[in-house]
Amino acid sequence: MSKTYDTIIIGAGIAGATTAHALTHKNQKVLVLDKKGIASGGSGAAGAFVSPKIGKGSPLQTLTNKAFSFAKDFYLATCPDYFHQTGVIRIPKDEDDAKKFSAYAPFNENSYALYTQEQLHAQGICSDFESFYFPEAGDCDAKEVCAFLLSDIEVVQYEVKEIKQEDGLWSMGDYKAHNLVLATGYEGDLADLRYMGIKGTWGTRGDFSSKLTLEVSMHQSMSVGANVDGIIKLGATHEKEVKEPMPCQDTQALLLKEQASSLIDTSDLELQEVFCGMRAGSKDYFPLVGKVIDVPFMLETYPAITRGAKPGMKYVDNLYVSNGLGGRGFVFAPLMAKILAECIVEDKEVDVRVRPDRLFLKWCRKSPALDALR
Ligand SMILES: Cc1cc2nc3c(=O)[nH]c(=O)nc-3n(C[C@H](O)[C@H](O)[C@H](O)COP(=O)(O)OP(=O)(O)OC[C@H]3O[C@@H](n4cnc5c(N)ncnc54)[C@H](O)[C@@H]3O)c2cc1C
Repeated sequence: MSKTYDTIIIGAGIAGATTAHALTHKNQKVLVLDKKGIASGGSGAAGAFVSPKIGKGSPLQTLTNKAFSFAKDFYLATCPDYFHQTGVIRIPKDEDDAKKFSAYAPFNENSYALYTQEQLHAQGICSDFESFYFPEAGDCDAKEVCAFLLSDIEVVQYEVKEIKQEDGLWSMGDYKAHNLVLATGYEGDLADLRYMGIKGTWGTRGDFSSKLTLEVSMHQSMSVGANVDGIIKLGATHEKEVKEPMPCQDTQALLLKEQASSLIDTSDLELQEVFCGMRAGSKDYFPLVGKVIDVPFMLETYPAITRGAKPGMKYVDNLYVSNGLGGRGFVFAPLMAKILAECIVEDKEVDVRVRPDRLFLKWCRKSPALDALR
């Protein structure tokens, strides 16, 4: 017998899990479908460090830091057992980077302190550059957070091959819902999402056992987690040449250990487990959250759109996306989930910075896939 939900979410990564949690808190009946189970995509691989972005106040930095502030409050309030607020030290890479840090300081929107060479050395960190210490930052137990957020929500292991909308309801096999959210990470082929330019970047993280006392996490070119229960997380690689998921490689995790040896004493670190997965990013590094444009309708009705016309947008009824969280899924997801839940339940406008619409007109004008229409 078919069951009908208010919203079905495809994808049980951090995007799907936070969205399901937010919708359930607005009294929606929600079903989450995932072909491989909870946090089986990029989310399960994540070191899941939750820290601010540094820089000279770009719009992306401002949004990231707002999301960071929201995320750490969210994890502390919702699943404190799976968020370790160890603080994160941002360490300059070299002399040039160290000079930039003083220009970045006025744009540190979240609480921070300067960490001197002596303080770094006292923590066992081999760097002589003055650094930023963000005490509110930390890291999540990635899989546990996703599982916890979904613990009171129906989750079914099911691969969606096709989505159909009939009589105002979305249907996938026996499951039906008024609203559908695509939170499928780098695999975005259930609807025409080409204009969003979702792209995967493969990454590896390694968990190492160690007796080293390391109370704080740090990030330089890579992240080194604090020692939590005898485990230090090292992450992550960016393996652009990997286009399709493949088995995790110990060699990549061991490369991270080698890289970490310039920061900490890695002599007793022993590799316990390797994680790998795809981060799904957008072209401009901003998240992709909100309604999905009806691409076939727009191209058929307004062919001049490929030559620069700017008609109003027509959206697919009750179809939404949460994607493009890139290398900061655990930072962005809680705020994006709130924004999307308010859009779905209260019909609130989505923040223009994260609406995928921003990429549509340019895609129509520039994409080689539409050359024949120009
Ligand atoms: C090595 C590594 C380290 C990282 N480190 C950090 C970090 O320190 N901090 C941070 O914030 N972020 C980090 N990230 C990024 C973060 O993991 C991603 O931003 C996050 O995974 C995005 O989550 P998502 O839910 O959008 O996608 P995913 O987690 O990829 O979830 C998508 C889900 O959709 C399911 N799915 C897809 N198609 C279908 C279908 N047709 N039917 C059913 N199910 C389907 C998949 O099985 C998958 O479970 C890291 C990522 C990697 C890989």
